[in-house]
Amino acid sequence: MFSSRKSLPSMDAVSFDASLLRKLNQLGPRYTSYPTADRFSEDFGSDDYLQAVANRRDMGARHALSLYMHIPFCETICYYCACNKVASKSLGKAALYLTYLKREISMQAELFQGMNQVEQLHFGGGTPTFLTDLQMTDLLAHLHRNFQFAPDGQGEYSIEVDPRTVTPKRIVTLRRQGFNRLSLGVQDFDPVVQKAVNRVQPEEDTLRIIDAARYAGFRSVSIDLIYGLPKQNVISMAQTLSKVIAAAPDRIAVFSYAHMPHIFKPQRRIADVDLPTPEAKIDMLFLCIKRLTDAGYVYIGMDHFAKPDDDLAIAQRQGRLHRNFQGYSTHAEADLVSCGVSAISAVGASYSQNEKTLDAYYQRLDQHALPIVRGAKLSMDDLLRRLIIQRLMCNFELSLASIEIAYPIKFSEYFSTELTQLELLAADGLLKLDDEWITVTMRGRLLIRNICMVFDRYLALAQSPLRYSKTI
Ligand code: SF4
Repeated sequence: MFSSRKSLPSMDAVSFDASLLRKLNQLGPRYTSYPTADRFSEDFGSDDYLQAVANRRDMGARHALSLYMHIPFCETICYYCACNKVASKSLGKAALYLTYLKREISMQAELFQGMNQVEQLHFGGGTPTFLTDLQMTDLLAHLHRNFQFAPDGQGEYSIEVDPRTVTPKRIVTLRRQGFNRLSLGVQDFDPVVQKAVNRVQPEEDTLRIIDAARYAGFRSVSIDLIYGLPKQNVISMAQTLSKVIAAAPDRIAVFSYAHMPHIFKPQRRIADVDLPTPEAKIDMLFLCIKRLTDAGYVYIGMDHFAKPDDDLAIAQRQGRLHRNFQGYSTHAEADLVSCGVSAISAVGASYSQNEKTLDAYYQRLDQHALPIVRGAKLSMDDLLRRLIIQRLMCNFELSLASIEIAYPIKFSEYFSTELTQLELLAADGLLKLDDEWITVTMRGRLLIRNICMVFDRYLALAQSPLRYSKTI
């Protein structure tokens, strides 16, 4: 009852303060999990995962499930990409992969038998639409044989679509196959930017796919944009935004391009000289927020915007918003079971990640073992901090009493160091602190990662922050 005290956030734009953003723009995690994936350990294996599922079962109540299917193949590689993908044009490769993926699905389904009502399914990649219609039909039939799915009106069944690889007819087929949400990678409509990132995607193709999705009856269409790409500038971004607003998708994600060529090889094809300056990036970010909120979109948080009547915006107003590996989500209580190479599951008080290469993934399944290679068993402290980070990221406020009710601690004592650090951020105007609430100000919303980093116990440990991107 203390988790949310007002309808947050409204359609107000976040408050801009360029100099503050520059000062606080540091390397930091995106908190799609806590602890973050770079803290996972190879000491965690399939036995630990089985224990986590058994604990879930012991809790008795039937639990909603969220499923994630990772399809790693892409016909060509976009230079900015930081996903786990495999460049291929071979459908044979996909056919082999599906054989193994189905084997893993069956193993997971057996574990969750009797408690497996699926309310969320997400196909990500890579490029899920790399699969043919027939392959997709076969995979979905296998999923439905193994899991019990909530009806279309209740479940959220989404797929990432690359407009370069699908036709409007394919979109209609995807809807018939059971998907009811669609997200499209756009990044930028400017042909010069598209060429610089090796993703040439004619505007007409993208708009045709959005129209087809509406015609086919998809409940929500989402578009991904990126700011900070090579050859991008405020003028090109303004033009892209005008086109996006005219297309009126239900959700828009505006990601900051994180140039980390030391980690992601394709990014080495991007010349530093073509990248916008940090100042230009901030200008682009401001422009995105201003144009999208002026157009009526609600700023959900981090990099997400949604129409006021979209489920994400409604869930946030009702204090039901959650954050997982796919970003913001409306299904707070669901365990996430992820299948496929490199996929990450979150079941009960655990995270587990699959083998990251196809060979290793196949080998483990050939041995009739779950292909889990690493993970984390969450301690009480981890769970407590995860809850706090979740609430701050989703609601932009935290009731200290709600934490004291959920955990046997006195907030002011347990987090005395953190509260001192928060006072510094409060002095910068990022938040307000009193005996009962931490409230993130409009100015602090853009820097929510910095605020959450205060509660991240692992940041102080040895791992190099170079693995993280800048906080805006
Ligand atoms: S951005 Fe998407 S389509 Fe491009 S290489 Fe990465 S996963 Fe493949």
